[in-house]
Amino acid sequence: MKSMPSDQTYRPVSFWLDTVPGSLAPTEVLPGDLSVDVAIAGAGLTGLWTAYYLATAQPGLRIAVCEAEIAGFGASGRNGGWCSALFPASLAKLTRMAGRDAAIAMYRAMQETVDEVGRVAAAENIDCHWAKGGTVVVARSAVQLERARAEVAEAREYGFGEDDLTLLTESEARARLGATGVLGGTFTPHCAAIHPARLVRGLAEAVRSRGVKVFDRTPVTQIAPGKLVTTRGTVTADYVIRATEGYTPALPGLHRAVIPVYSLMIATEPLPDAVWDTVGLAGRPTFSDGRHLLIYGQRTADGRFAFGGRGAPYHLGSAVRPSFEKVPGVFTALRKTLGELFPALGDVAVTHNWGGPLGIARDWCASAGLDRATGLGWAGGYVGDGLATTNLAGRTLADLILDKGSDLTRLPWVNHRSRPWETEPLRWLGINAGLHTMGWADRAEGRSGRPSRAAQVMGRFLGG
Ligand SMILES: Cc1cc2nc3c(=O)[nH]c(=O)nc-3n(C[C@H](O)[C@H](O)[C@H](O)COP(=O)(O)OP(=O)(O)OC[C@H]3O[C@@H](n4cnc5c(N)ncnc54)[C@H](O)[C@@H]3O)c2cc1C
Repeated sequence: MKSMPSDQTYRPVSFWLDTVPGSLAPTEVLPGDLSVDVAIAGAGLTGLWTAYYLATAQPGLRIAVCEAEIAGFGASGRNGGWCSALFPASLAKLTRMAGRDAAIAMYRAMQETVDEVGRVAAAENIDCHWAKGGTVVVARSAVQLERARAEVAEAREYGFGEDDLTLLTESEARARLGATGVLGGTFTPHCAAIHPARLVRGLAEAVRSRGVKVFDRTPVTQIAPGKLVTTRGTVTADYVIRATEGYTPALPGLHRAVIPVYSLMIATEPLPDAVWDTVGLAGRPTFSDGRHLLIYGQRTADGRFAFGGRGAPYHLGSAVRPSFEKVPGVFTALRKTLGELFPALGDVAVTHNWGGPLGIARDWCASAGLDRATGLGWAGGYVGDGLATTNLAGRTLADLILDKGSDLTRLPWVNHRSRPWETEPLRWLGINAGLHTMGWADRAEGRSGRPSRAAQVMGRFLGG
């Protein structure tokens, strides 16, 4: 007989879940059929922020969240902990979609959202190790430096000033991040490093204390107007919200809505002060460099590196399986990259490795929306920028459900519809070719010192 999941079942899922206070044992499951006002599939940050703002705005509202495992089991309990103002669609792309003012409003809303997450965490006594130290992205080749300059120039064209994004000289960049080969970089103050599982688990508690029902171990098998069908009963509701992000393709009728792409991470043991003296990161800014195949890191509150990157393959048919979270080759490459960036690490041990799926829409643009005719709502497709964006999604969905026109409901991502992904095997071929091209382009740029044309072409094909 299969044993019931316990606290120990979920600890190995990520470094963050391993170190979060409180029990991870599943709590209440859906006891049978239920009728509520709002039913939400998925207890990640999207589902929980939506429940939080609804319950805060209208305390009597009956809200049920149905979660397949436990709150924070998905990307929300596994990510890099960058609570950033990054949005997956560029200013230029948002301008093409909705005009220049709308693009600027979207980016400003993201900046405010970072502070809103910090505000709620403080108000709800969620100790998520909040450190708003910004983000430093170092340029480690002439081509990366050129991209950094272009990024700052684009920000200026849209009216974003020095206090939004600064170009760093070599010595300024090195002072923030003591990595090898630094030629310059950029700095933005709009990011906090956090312990993401503390945030999502704390938020689940906060919504429960407001009367929201969060049902663990209650997988949804169908989302339809007026109802969430689960393995334990049907929840009927006026509004039904899909908050399943990278797991969405497994739901009937939604297999081409987003693709799950895996991002993988490692955490080191806590490092001695002598190492941090050479690495820097005082104030805990999050960090990256300018390569195409993204890497990202943070200095954790307990003095470790939590460091991640893309590069794990996309799986045919948008499959999501626990085995896909463990790719030894990617973990080895991440450890090697960390050592190349910071030789002072020496043979510091990696204590945790993990990964998880994030959702990508066909046009690389996240969206949040509600179809008033059917009562069906959704938010997702954040690529790897969902930690803060889920908060904006939650506030926006709450306004849409409560029919409150607001600055948030007028933002360009609201009710944006991305076209479906290609059918297989084209999807598999295209995405994996894209991932390979990015890695190859980084190596080619390192050798030639010129921007990779292939990466630009592939970037356009993928819609990024
Ligand atoms: C390794 C990694 C690193 C990342 N780093 C960052 C970062 O540093 N900064 C950043 O901004 N973003 C980052 N992201 C992305 C970010 O974590 C996500 O965008 C965000 O957490 C999405 O939240 P969500 O609630 O929409 O989805 P999730 O957190 O994935 O939640 C979806 C929930 O739905 C549940 N579920 C799925 N199917 C069903 C079903 N059928 N029935 C019921 N429940 C279901 C899942 O169990 C899960 O709990 C990262 C992602 C990963 C994987």
